[in-house]
Amino acid sequence: MTREVADFPEPGVQFKDLTPLLADAAGLCAVTDALAASAAGADLVAGLDARGFLLGAAVATRLGIGVLAVRKGGKLPPPVHSATYQLEYGTATLEIPAEGIDIAGRDVVIIDDVLATGGTLGAAVKLLTASGARVTGAAVVLELTELRGRGAVAPLPVSSLHTV
Ligand code: AMP
Repeated sequence: MTREVADFPEPGVQFKDLTPLLADAAGLCAVTDALAASAAGADLVAGLDARGFLLGAAVATRLGIGVLAVRKGGKLPPPVHSATYQLEYGTATLEIPAEGIDIAGRDVVIIDDVLATGGTLGAAVKLLTASGARVTGAAVVLELTELRGRGAVAPLPVSSLHTV
């Protein structure tokens, strides 16, 4: 249920579009259950912009805990904590609110759709850790193993439901 799009958003990138999976009732349920099992014990889910928001909220609901949206740069009102990182295609910035939520001392599991180079996940770990959270792990639907993202965020435990 993954749609593959060649050369998007940059030439050479094989984009994995999980839209059909997320739009399928049984598929969404199965993915949510599996990610939630990987995130058991967390007291907060952090969902990465943007498909991680959908999955993160579903997982948090399943676990009976809250969700924090880790946003791309420029979307949140100030004050924010931010981290800039390297993508498979270009650079980007992640931000979380610096006020209104206290994540110090909380056990956070990060949820996203795809793990590629690990740049996004690594930046999210830095951001959350700098705010005092304990990032206990990450869970993704799909891991692109040849891009070695898991190694880039070692020793963080990363669960992936599928690898290609
Ligand atoms: P990376 O930082 O390289 O691990 O990239 C991970 C982030 O970029 C995730 O939030 C993904 O949604 C997105 N991403 C990177 N590469 C792809 C890809 N080939 N297909 C789909 N999404 C991707």
